[in-house]
Amino acid sequence: MKLSLYTGDITKMKVDAIVNAANNSLLGGGGVDGAIHRAAGPELLAECRALHGCPTGQAKATKGYRLPAKYVIHTVGPIWHGGSHGEAGLLADCYRNSLALALELGCETVAFPAISTGVYHYPPEEAAAIAVSTVRGFLAEHPGGPEVIFVCFNAAAEAAYRKVLN
Ligand code: ADP
Repeated sequence: MKLSLYTGDITKMKVDAIVNAANNSLLGGGGVDGAIHRAAGPELLAECRALHGCPTGQAKATKGYRLPAKYVIHTVGPIWHGGSHGEAGLLADCYRNSLALALELGCETVAFPAISTGVYHYPPEEAAAIAVSTVRGFLAEHPGGPEVIFVCFNAAAEAAYRKVLN
């Protein structure tokens, strides 16, 4: 299966689409969202304004502007509230809906950050398990689906993915 890990900054990746762990407003935030907006330039925020937000678990695409990536797929992960508030299902929705959009856009390579594991406090290992199993499930159902790269921003995230992938 076309899965790999990369440790580094998602904004530097020359792929067809990078996924943004955005918030419901799609108007920019901190973490990976802030980094993507800074690297893409102000045109990205202008296009995001016209999208009028995004519900948790859903995904919406924009162009990549000054990024090396062609598209940004903005998805909104769940805030961790202990795990009994539908967090796992919503996180899986983020991966599935982002991949469905990537497929529609004809993307052959898609890079995902560890959605919800920053300020939304999803436990990294549980999030990595959902990321990997959801992407594997999607690619099994869509043999023409894109190559997926999980981007780890630090060693802890990388350890979480390695544990799940092994
Ligand atoms: P969320 O609100 O969904 O938790 P965050 O942006 O706070 O989103 O964090 C999501 C993940 O993205 C975290 O694991 C964080 O370490 C990671 N991250 C932050 N900046 C970058 C970046 N430039 N490239 C890749 N991953 C990043």
